[in-house]
Amino acid sequence: MSPAPSYFDKPTGLTNGHSATNVTSFKLRHDGFGTRAIHVGSEPNSETGAVIPPISLATTYKQDGVGKHKGFEYSRSGNPNRNALESTLAAIEGGAFGLAFASGSATTATVITALGPDAHILSVNDVYGGTYRYIKRVAGENQGVTSSFVNLQDEDDAAILSAFQPNTKLVWIESPTNPTLRLVDIPRIVRLAKSHPSKPLVLVDNTFLSPFYSSPLLQGADIVYHSVTKYINGHSDVVMGALVLPARHTALAEKLRFLQNAIGAVPSAYDSWLAQRGLKTLHLRMKAHGTNALAVAKALQSSPYVEDVIYPGLPSHPQTALAYHSLSPHALKFVEQFREQYASIDDNSFPYSGMVSFRIRGGAEEADKFLTSTRLFTLAESLGGVESLAEVPAQMTHGSIPPAERELLGIGDNLIRLSVGVEETEDLVRDVEQALEATFST
Ligand SMILES: *Cc1c(COP(=O)(O)O)cnc(C)c1O
Repeated sequence: MSPAPSYFDKPTGLTNGHSATNVTSFKLRHDGFGTRAIHVGSEPNSETGAVIPPISLATTYKQDGVGKHKGFEYSRSGNPNRNALESTLAAIEGGAFGLAFASGSATTATVITALGPDAHILSVNDVYGGTYRYIKRVAGENQGVTSSFVNLQDEDDAAILSAFQPNTKLVWIESPTNPTLRLVDIPRIVRLAKSHPSKPLVLVDNTFLSPFYSSPLLQGADIVYHSVTKYINGHSDVVMGALVLPARHTALAEKLRFLQNAIGAVPSAYDSWLAQRGLKTLHLRMKAHGTNALAVAKALQSSPYVEDVIYPGLPSHPQTALAYHSLSPHALKFVEQFREQYASIDDNSFPYSGMVSFRIRGGAEEADKFLTSTRLFTLAESLGGVESLAEVPAQMTHGSIPPAERELLGIGDNLIRLSVGVEETEDLVRDVEQALEATFST
């Protein structure tokens, strides 16, 4: 498998072996994020001129002679919609290889299977619950995989290095973490991993920031991971996952491509088409998610009914400088424009994706009252869709973590997580304010 053109590196080649998009992709190399999201993998159909790719539901493809085909044999191995989406994902992450899977969890399973037996994984401690479960209960019990869960935010270099083993093959980073939005300094962890003789791969779960706010490959990561279910698809109607790798990892990409087909946890053509449609507005949505989340975070911060607001774009966040310095080039451009426009209210705050957590005064009762008093924020798990959602992690997404450990992670009964959507800013701010009033009025 030869790499598709990489959008941040020097040209590495023109074909990805299965996409008809190469010539246009080459021309698009220097285009901005939104232009790539809309055009790469979406060339007008050469037969009909349709500007939107048709949905290709065929499971099998005619061969003109044995082994003579147009790049497609059987839909699990590759189909036009999945291939198109994969080339778009690679283009917007600045990578060379994109691989799509049936869910984020199927992606986790495939990438960990690629490590082989008896590997050691070093993971950030408050990793996504499903990732923790897979590492411990599936890879641990069936693949002989051992693991260490380390506080990659606060531990010093020596402490982190001491957690590496001779067989450490993968470092799993998630930043910001869920739901307390702690950041991992990706270049620092990459440097530590590279300095260790086990030379592990560094994977970054970039789900919470999306390819718009963060480009982990530019920060030295080996693999970027997404639950496409969240921001990338963005409309709460597709479950899907993806990996993106840089051009230097051809052999690993080939291995993952083999496993994608052999394990068979692949997304359908229809879901691939939907996710690609969602992806075309990712840059617009992420800007709106960011500005709305910042406005909601500020409104919460000024409320007497709120103890504490967690949003990396607020100066009160202990790692706000790291958040700023880790912005992707395209997000930095947007953030600078945003700051210029709002120079009069310059307080060093900035949009940083759409997730906001806060601690309401009181406990479980107040949290419950708030969550049933919102009009626009729907009480539900998941995140990243155009509609705003709210949940209480202690009882919902993080309910399986033992209470003592939850307490250590700062996940109390009064912690509320918001996925701020792209509705009108004023309506969301008003909704949060009226729900707080309703919670505390007797
Ligand atoms: C949702 C999520 C996953 C798992 O993805 P699924 O598509 O639900 O399988 C992994 N990581 C993060 C950060 C997530 O939010």
